[in-house]
Amino acid sequence: MIVVGGGIGGLGAAFSLTRQGLSVRLLESAPAFGEVGAGIQLAPNCTRILDDYGLLEEAKSLGVVPDSMVMRDAVEGDELTRLDLRDLERRYGYPYMVIHRSDLHGLLLRACERAGVELITDSRVTSYENTDSGARVTIASGEVHEAGVVIAADGLHSVARKLFVDDQPVSSAYVAYRGTVPAESPRVQGTDLSEVVVYVGPRCHFVHYGLRGGELLNQVAVFESPKALAGQEDWGTPDELDAAFAGTCDFVREGLPFMWRDKWWRMFDRDPVMNWVHGRIALLGDSAHPPLQYIAQGAIMAIEDGWVLGEHVARNRAEDGTVDWDTTLAAYEAVRPEHCRRVLTTSRKWGELWHLDGVARDQRNVLLRARGTYDYSFVDWLYGPTALTPEQEPPMFSPVPLSSAAVEEPLAVTGSGAS
Ligand SMILES: Cc1cc2nc3c(=O)[nH]c(=O)nc-3n(C[C@H](O)[C@H](O)[C@H](O)COP(=O)(O)OP(=O)(O)OC[C@H]3O[C@@H](n4cnc5c(N)ncnc54)[C@H](O)[C@@H]3O)c2cc1C
Repeated sequence: MIVVGGGIGGLGAAFSLTRQGLSVRLLESAPAFGEVGAGIQLAPNCTRILDDYGLLEEAKSLGVVPDSMVMRDAVEGDELTRLDLRDLERRYGYPYMVIHRSDLHGLLLRACERAGVELITDSRVTSYENTDSGARVTIASGEVHEAGVVIAADGLHSVARKLFVDDQPVSSAYVAYRGTVPAESPRVQGTDLSEVVVYVGPRCHFVHYGLRGGELLNQVAVFESPKALAGQEDWGTPDELDAAFAGTCDFVREGLPFMWRDKWWRMFDRDPVMNWVHGRIALLGDSAHPPLQYIAQGAIMAIEDGWVLGEHVARNRAEDGTVDWDTTLAAYEAVRPEHCRRVLTTSRKWGELWHLDGVARDQRNVLLRARGTYDYSFVDWLYGPTALTPEQEPPMFSPVPLSSAAVEEPLAVTGSGAS
């Protein structure tokens, strides 16, 4: 079979399917395999799968297993709520960890090499077609590759997605700056690397956590771009970064000079789609469900997709090794789109909650301060075992309305209200 795209999603799927005894060819458009960016958070619904793959110990040796995740107000700097990640590990059976993106990518790449995946670079797929015996792809050079099944893990700007829906990435008008700070810096010495911290503020947020066993501090600064809202082309520039965080607390502002200022990530997602399978061509990862990253599940969903596909191959494989692909792909499509729809829509809502201003921000802070550290009702639907069937998908949490927060009058109303 063929997997298109050698990102975290494509490599994860190629490994999972090879592990089930299939022969997999992976086509990547870039001249070399690699990942740009800095850190990535891996929740128990991902580390459970890495453990099943025999890769968790290596991942832990490359990453950091923090003690807690803390949410603070970006303006006041005070703590709003926290998750005890050691207790969370006991609850879900697997750790919550952070890792450098290139380390996770490298880990999956090495696993694919060991498993015997045929890894081919410089192969940009330009078209997909179903055939009588499976599917074929054509690459930019004109070369054609055929297989029983093609998995398209070709990311946010997926070519394959055009077979399913005529849509475009949706701009959130938010932009992310990333950066890492070396351990020698006084900035790192004054920071608790055992915590993943997010500062939430009006139209902005700031995240930091330790990476590579404490060698690096990873920072992410995200804000709404006024130039994007005004329809200007050159949005998200460093002057906008500084202006967006001008009203935040000292710790956050002092982190800004450490961001990489020559590149930034404009944040797009897409509306959810519920059909991912077209004959013998299936979408996987960001090609199917690119999210806004607020609940840090994008790469995790991609890894889950590959694992679910592999598990259904195992259940629909005859003694002679042939796979009942109709049943396998139908089982995949029965369970994954609904889960990912929930993640996509919750990610958008979560971003709105983080970026509130005025009265709504005060109401949010009251509700977050009232939350018990050991209340897992908002993450049970995510961090438990990945569902293989729709019946196994856990129920969603019930949102708490902001209006239920008792907020004393008069309040300082500082801006335009909810974003
Ligand atoms: C700021 C930020 C922070 C994030 N933090 C987290 C986090 O903490 N946790 C988390 O789980 N997720 C996070 N994410 C989301 C996560 O990065 C993505 O969801 C994930 O990397 C998607 O993987 P993918 O393999 O599906 O797609 P991609 O990583 O986009 O990979 C697609 C691959 O396909 C190749 N390709 C594209 N087109 C073609 C073609 N036509 N032919 C051949 N190859 C092609 C590309 O070169 C690439 O290698 C974050 C995202 C952002 C922007």
